[in-house]
This record gives sequence, C-alpha cells and structure tokens, in this order.
Amino acid sequence: MIRFACFIVIIGILVCGCTGKSREPAIHVEKAAPAFQLYALRYGISKMASGYIFRGDKTNTRLDFHWLFYLLKYRDYILLIDTGTSDPSYIKSYGISFIPPLNLLNALKLNPEDITHIIITHCHFDHIGGIADYPDARIIIQEDELNAFYKKPFSRDIADWLRKNKQIFTFTEQYTLWDFITVKKIGGHTIGSSVVFIETGDEKILLAGDECYFPRNFLKDIPSAAVYNPEANGKFLDFLRQFEGKIYTFHDPGIVPDKTENPLELFISEPWKNRD
Ligand SMILES: [Zn+2]
Repeated sequence: MIRFACFIVIIGILVCGCTGKSREPAIHVEKAAPAFQLYALRYGISKMASGYIFRGDKTNTRLDFHWLFYLLKYRDYILLIDTGTSDPSYIKSYGISFIPPLNLLNALKLNPEDITHIIITHCHFDHIGGIADYPDARIIIQEDELNAFYKKPFSRDIADWLRKNKQIFTFTEQYTLWDFITVKKIGGHTIGSSVVFIETGDEKILLAGDECYFPRNFLKDIPSAAVYNPEANGKFLDFLRQFEGKIYTFHDPGIVPDKTENPLELFISEPWKNRD
C-alpha cells in the first residue's frame, strides 16, 4: 500500500454550481478559480470488531479503526466536516488512542474561534461530540437527524448547547455551500445521515460519513452492522461503486498513516482507487 505523506492534499478549482434546497446567503463568487485545501484529521486509533464493520462477518477479528474528521479552508472560511469528540468516557470505552481535536487544529495554527462553518454528517458521539468547542461556527445539519438527536441525545449538554445556538441551518434533502459543496441526505446509517460532495471542474470528492466505514463496504457490497435503513444504505453503496471521484470515509485506516514521527502531523493518502 502506498501512502503519501503530504500536508495539504486537495486543491480544487471553484467552477460548478449545484442546486440545493437550502443555500448559504449569497456571497460574491469570483469567476477566477479560488483554491481550497482539504485536510483529514485523525484524532484517534482503536480496534473494532470485524462483525461491526462488515455485517455478517464471522471471523471475529479486531480490525484497525481510525477516527477522523475533515477540515476545509476556502478563502477566509474554515469549514469542519464533523468534529470528533473529546469525551473521556467514550475514548475509554472504545479504547481509543487519542489526540484532542483542538490539538490538531492547533497544529494548523487555528483556534476554535477560527472555525466559521461546520457540517455534521450525523449525530453520533464521534461526529458531533466536539461541537460545543466552536461557539462562532454556522452549523449545517439535516433536520430529521437533529430532531432525532433532541429526542434521544447521547449528551444532554450538547443537546442543550445546540438548542441555544442561533446559527443552526437545517435542510431536508440537500444544502449547498459556496456553490461547490453539497451536503446530501442519504438516511442509511441514521435517520438523516448525510454525505458531502465537493465538486469543482477538476475534482470530485465525496466524504461518505458513516454510510460506509471502509472501501470494502461498497467495493464488495457489504454493509456495516450499523445501518438504520438498509435500502437507503444499499442504494448509496451501489452509487459509490459507480462514483468517479475520490471517496473518503471517517474510519478508514488507509487514509492517514498510523506511524508518523509527529502524531500531530496531518496526512492524507491517495484515495481508495489507488490503494490496495
Ligand atoms: Zn463514526
């Protein structure tokens, strides 16, 4: 497996316009091509039961499992796609070797106040658990997902924090940000589980949330054991097999190398198509 140790990986050209049911308030969009940078931030490593990652797996093995979220820089904006968590009880119960997400931001010379936008793919602890660290961010989240979380939160503190937050933007089917990022509801992993498309003239990137954990989930059409709506998830796995672009997930150990000299360095590998 070839892994590349480069800091900033994906630099795109803003071109395309996507239609969305909700839309960020209009901003001036240059005709020239502004660049963005996308980082994969790995805040933890653990093992996970194979039967959880691949439904029906009877090998009873424990596989490497990484814990990631993503950061995108565009103009003066800093967007997080999910937030990770810093909750010590989850870190302990999942046996995660852990780097605080804020330390990762620090390594990029960023403070929590610098985060202007957050997209939440779904409301599990490892995706939304760190959200209260970012008081100034505009939060984009699927409506059913948020409502389900309010009804049954894994953390009352986070639910209360969100209820008081005046910068939450919800959507039903999809939401378009800056004309080149589209958040789309899939609803397979959880009721409003979403994925993020980053599309420019040159580049198509898909951040698949937890609709799949590893490339093998879609390459071999094996869903994970954590599926709320098998039909929606299955349809999405079919779509992934056809997708002509780069696909990144939030738990794939192939994305950020686990043996780095400085654990705070931020790496991302080539996408799954170029890996084993
Ligand atoms: Zn997850």
